[in-house]
Amino acid sequence: MGMSSALQSRADIYRRVENILERLSRVRRNAIGWTARCPVHDDRRPSLSITEREGKILLHCFGGCTAEAICTALGIHLRDLFTEPESTSNPLPRLVRDVQQHIRDLRSRLTPRDRKRPITVVYANRQNPERAMARAIALAVEGELCQLLFKDQR
Ligand SMILES: [Zn+2]
Repeated sequence: MGMSSALQSRADIYRRVENILERLSRVRRNAIGWTARCPVHDDRRPSLSITEREGKILLHCFGGCTAEAICTALGIHLRDLFTEPESTSNPLPRLVRDVQQHIRDLRSRLTPRDRKRPITVVYANRQNPERAMARAIALAVEGELCQLLFKDQR
């Protein structure tokens, strides 16, 4: 992992932690993370502990509530603790979701070793595909995995 991608993932973690903290009340910083009122049980004194370790956000209620129940009360998914939350108000553009789907399809047909490699998607216009094809071939010659898609392909 390069320096810039390490910084990028730190920024992602801070954004995810912030997204959770702003949904909680009586948030206090402590030596290892934060404490807050548990949103699940009738919590008189903050018994929820929020810590972050190796990119994972850990929620622990000393009253015994589960992480699932806490996430439900906060209106987030359990997976949001581990990855960037999917914003429902600002979904990814259709084009990006299509490309992600095509990349998943392509990856499923690759060998396990090739599956780890990045894939470049080149979009082609059906009426005039030569430019995109030339680009895809140039990338393939350089050793990149490349998927050529037509704009109206589903
Ligand atoms: Zn609780």
